[in-house]
Amino acid sequence: MLRVPAGYEDHVGLETYREKRDAARTPEPVPPAQDLRVDHTGDEQAGRGDTFVVQEHHATALHWDVRLERDGVLVSWAVPKGLPLDPAKNNLAKQTEDHPMAYATFAGDIPKGEYGGGHVSVWDSGTYELEKWRADVVKVVLHGEKVDGRYVFFRTRGNDWMVHRMGSPPKGWTPLPRDLKPMLAVAGTLPTDDDRWAYEVKWDGVRALVAVEGGRVTLTSRNGNDVTSHYPELRGVGLQLGSRAALLDGEIVAFNPEGRSDFGLLQNRMHVGKPGTALLRSTPVQLLLFDVLHLEGTSLLDRTYDERRAALEGLELQGEHWSVPAAFLGGGQTVLDATRAQGLEGILAKRRDATYLPGRRSECWTKVKHIRRTSTVIAGWKPGEGGRAGRIGSLLLGVQGPDGLEYAGHVGTGFTAATLKALGELLEPLRIAESPFATAVPRMYAKDAVWVEPRLVAEIDYTEWTKDGRLRHPSYKGLRDDYDPKDVFRE
Ligand code: MN
Repeated sequence: MLRVPAGYEDHVGLETYREKRDAARTPEPVPPAQDLRVDHTGDEQAGRGDTFVVQEHHATALHWDVRLERDGVLVSWAVPKGLPLDPAKNNLAKQTEDHPMAYATFAGDIPKGEYGGGHVSVWDSGTYELEKWRADVVKVVLHGEKVDGRYVFFRTRGNDWMVHRMGSPPKGWTPLPRDLKPMLAVAGTLPTDDDRWAYEVKWDGVRALVAVEGGRVTLTSRNGNDVTSHYPELRGVGLQLGSRAALLDGEIVAFNPEGRSDFGLLQNRMHVGKPGTALLRSTPVQLLLFDVLHLEGTSLLDRTYDERRAALEGLELQGEHWSVPAAFLGGGQTVLDATRAQGLEGILAKRRDATYLPGRRSECWTKVKHIRRTSTVIAGWKPGEGGRAGRIGSLLLGVQGPDGLEYAGHVGTGFTAATLKALGELLEPLRIAESPFATAVPRMYAKDAVWVEPRLVAEIDYTEWTKDGRLRHPSYKGLRDDYDPKDVFRE
């Protein structure tokens, strides 16, 4: 018997269910009015079946509807994150109106505009053992295909309940890791044992680890910042994964009209310095997914590249703003030549038998680049002359050395008028009196330099490092907010 606190009686019985639906407009089962005989109200002998069903419902917000047969109806909760597998979690469960038994096998599309409009599928079903059924507590053991275990629902307030898994998680299940750092590549040349390697295009964007749990996406940058809110169009990856919890590795890029990923374009979306400019939404981004590190409770870190790649492709992730770009097995020279012809930055060679090493720079991932690009720290600027008088003439750059920041040269090209203005505004509040370099800066560059706190990281294209440690022919590409200046070393 399910007694309901005063004011919430409308969830008991099928009247509410019927009132919300028009049989002519929804494919859902709608019982005729004379069929609404449900007695939750005290008849201990009323039918008590043991069916349970969980439906995945892509309504306005993705949720899972958990339904337990009781007294001839399905007592129902909408659970935004689905049933937890982790006993350390309590997931919110909103009690909804009782559903008719026929709903237990319903799957289909409720038309837009109708109540609960969106796609419904049966995520799992089976039977349950009842342990306790009180007005505020329902304790059951679910036996389904996907979910097997003891769950307790407890009412917190009104229709708000929490659902909690009791005891241990499913055998072998581990929670989604939240603090992993991406694996990094070393710069190098094409490997000689070609067929032991896979080759991928090196994308010119920002790295992101993508955690999906209960259909919700969290994007974490290389330096551990949550950047989810910067890229709202990537939320759909979570909807596509649905209940499959996953940790994915990828690169967020912006494509220019020629179809090449363009780091400069992505600046509009990176919130470097100050957020909230009108440009933020004007540059569409793509999430290019190339690895999967954890899937449905199982860590894949110890699996080989080939195994992880197969798991990734099995997810069939493809949407307007995300995809899994091709990986080529062997044939590195061909891939390298093709990327050069297309004006791309280069390729990544990944050893097919290598595991994933979080936070490590490993030769199992080797980047082969056509263009030399490095990160530097902006340590100051020199005022311009002529047409750039009163503005930034060049930036003084540094990289970290054993004793602190080392001078790495200055860059005076690659700027647009708008970048110079934006850089001026970002650097102004960072002014300091003394040089932030640990080593001496040649007098001709130190003279009339404006020093700044070494907080901004700039991407620079160059031809080579000179013998005295300076960048030759440097050209400014943009700022990045996903590197800590303390981690910017000479490549
Ligand atoms: Mn629903």
